Amino acid sequence: MIVIKIGGAEGIGLEAVCNDAAELVHAGERVVLVHGGSHETNTLAEQLGHPAQFVTSPSGHTSRRTDRRTMEIFQMACCGRINKRVVQMLQARGVNAVGLSGMDGGLWRGKRKKAIRIVEDGRTSVLRDDYTGTVDQVNAALLNRMLNIGLTPVLTPPGLSEEHEPINVDADRAGAKTAGAMRADTFVILSNVPGLLRSFPDEGSLIPELARAELDAAIELAQGRMKKKVLAAGEALDMGVGRVILADARAERPIQRALSGEGTVVS
Ligand code: ADP
Repeated sequence: MIVIKIGGAEGIGLEAVCNDAAELVHAGERVVLVHGGSHETNTLAEQLGHPAQFVTSPSGHTSRRTDRRTMEIFQMACCGRINKRVVQMLQARGVNAVGLSGMDGGLWRGKRKKAIRIVEDGRTSVLRDDYTGTVDQVNAALLNRMLNIGLTPVLTPPGLSEEHEPINVDADRAGAKTAGAMRADTFVILSNVPGLLRSFPDEGSLIPELARAELDAAIELAQGRMKKKVLAAGEALDMGVGRVILADARAERPIQRALSGEGTVVS
């Protein structure tokens, strides 16, 4: 059982990712794909005249401001543009892919953060109309039933809150929870860098291997969204996933290369 998170940053070869995923499925491997939609959401938000905004927490974490309109755009980008593109590409390769958001079938349930403290121009304030949260529960039974009848799930945010609202959840961390709940042997996080770099952006500084115990220190090396990937790696391992591989999706055979150990292997 393999869970593969597909990155959305520039340079990622979706065709090559789908070629490899299809090959695995045809070889009888149980595969669940997960993607996010940060980059596409920014593009679409710009096109629709509601440009992306980011907020910073008192501890310095930056996240997307997800008001109601942004949530609509986020769904158009994730569930619409990206999810259906991946499903179509897999279908074209003979894989019976089914695209679902975390709301569908209650696949990703979690808590909405009802009040978010943010810092703006040195002043702290509270946002109450934001739709972000984290995944606490994965409907693994539904995913297993789908896999048992030969379907390949392609999952995307948003998740579903306790009040049945859509919540913007981080796809790397939702992927980790999914890998954990599915008892996956491997969780692959594909992005547009070779893996975790000791001195970003020097690609020669790739860290080939990390132990779980080294992750807390490694998170300091990551900037921005790479931090979430390192966090996700830890969450997956803590839930019993055998290994997490942070790998590059810019070249041919990205999944095969990751599975053969290219990238940062965390175990
Ligand atoms: P995706 O959309 O694929 O999920 P993101 O673009 O959000 O990925 O996050 C990956 C990015 O994190 C890389 O493109 C890189 O610019 C950045 N990054 C920051 N610090 C590091 C680091 N230490 N090693 C590798 N990448 C890093």
